Amino acid sequence: MQLELSAEDAAFRDEMRTFFTTEVPQEIRDAVANRRELTKDQIVESQRVLNAHGLAVPNWPVEWGGKDWSPLRRHIWHEEMQRADVPAPLAFNASMIGPVIAHFGSQEIKERFLPATANLDIWWSQGFSEPDAGSDLASLRTTAVRDGDEFVVNGQKTWTTLGQYGDWIFTLVRTDPDVKKQAGISMLLIDMTSPGLTVRPIELIDGGHEVNEVWFEDVRVPAGNLVGELNSGWTQAKFLLGNERVGVAPVGGTKRVLAQAKDWARETGQLDDPLTSSRIAELENELLALELTALRVVAHSADGKPHPASSVLKLKGTELQQAVSELVVDLAGPASLATGAGDDSDLPWWSRRATPAYLNLRKASIYGGSNEVQRQIIAKTILGL
Ligand SMILES: Cc1cc2nc3c(=O)[nH]c(=O)nc-3n(C[C@H](O)[C@H](O)[C@H](O)COP(=O)(O)OP(=O)(O)OC[C@H]3O[C@@H](n4cnc5c(N)ncnc54)[C@H](O)[C@@H]3O)c2cc1C
Repeated sequence: MQLELSAEDAAFRDEMRTFFTTEVPQEIRDAVANRRELTKDQIVESQRVLNAHGLAVPNWPVEWGGKDWSPLRRHIWHEEMQRADVPAPLAFNASMIGPVIAHFGSQEIKERFLPATANLDIWWSQGFSEPDAGSDLASLRTTAVRDGDEFVVNGQKTWTTLGQYGDWIFTLVRTDPDVKKQAGISMLLIDMTSPGLTVRPIELIDGGHEVNEVWFEDVRVPAGNLVGELNSGWTQAKFLLGNERVGVAPVGGTKRVLAQAKDWARETGQLDDPLTSSRIAELENELLALELTALRVVAHSADGKPHPASSVLKLKGTELQQAVSELVVDLAGPASLATGAGDDSDLPWWSRRATPAYLNLRKASIYGGSNEVQRQIIAKTILGL
């Protein structure tokens, strides 16, 4: 998008551009550019570089490391970060539990967790979904029963992304089984090294290890680890999920892959095909419209609370992300199936990674609340149906 920037905002953009392209290690940026999986150490290192310069959590309140930036500057920060192939700060920390603690947590919880969360000294996992509570999250059955100064937690969470790296898990638990289901939920912060807590990998069809089950068997959690009031967890969950939806709509990342795809189409002579070039132009237009929506969502988010249009962003953003991954498979043609070929192969690297990336991204329309559920939210809260 070509925005008419004021001289001050243009200087800010240049400052961000210089920072992201000079301070974050090149090998981390290369891994992002070449769509390679980042190691835990690379994700931590990158976030610490950002945090050391006050650029990891600009969306947080200023007293906890946030920036009092205009929505446009937040957009520029995000754009330049993605443009430079810098990994975004870990979403579980920066856009999920951090804002929740800053908004709902006691002073003691804020002091204890926020600095370590911004610096990724603590790697957070998200303990919301259960085998029978995904879209219908309020049906969750993991219980927390008060016993003196502690809660005793029993139950199971599932689909816990990168739970194998997790130090702590923000967990929705049932603290009152006798009221309307939304009214009996609380949020507890749980140390993942606690006795009785087990993380079990879910092996994916491609052999990858991205998600896990987390089991709780009489896990004792200090009562002081409750976020906000007892039984107010549903309010915090809705707040967090709205922010998660904004975070999972990868506008900048999709733009970057589409720009790469256009280069690949040019290199392979396919850009001369009117069907291919119009398909690319259509995707570019749709991404531009999405980008404007993203700016509107940021502009209308008040006090860390997401705008209802975050559901539009999540829905459309993930649809476009999947559409671009499909385009890359088509551009690669039969080479997209040559996933076993090594780096010494004559086939270009991007074509060999096309099908795994396409298949992996099927998840995007499910996580963060499935796209069918986003349509329901849009129908109710935006269209008033
Ligand atoms: C890769 C990945 C990573 C994830 N990471 C995490 C994580 O770190 N932490 C965490 O807590 N959770 C995580 N999740 C879980 C995710 O939030 C749930 O998968 C999601 O909310 C859907 O729930 P479900 O899988 O139980 O499907 P279900 O709720 O059983 O839905 C099954 C199908 O029915 C449709 N459906 C359900 N209800 C409705 C309705 N009312 N109207 C129309 N259609 C409906 C859904 O759209 C879906 O297509 C992750 C999921 C994935 C795929």
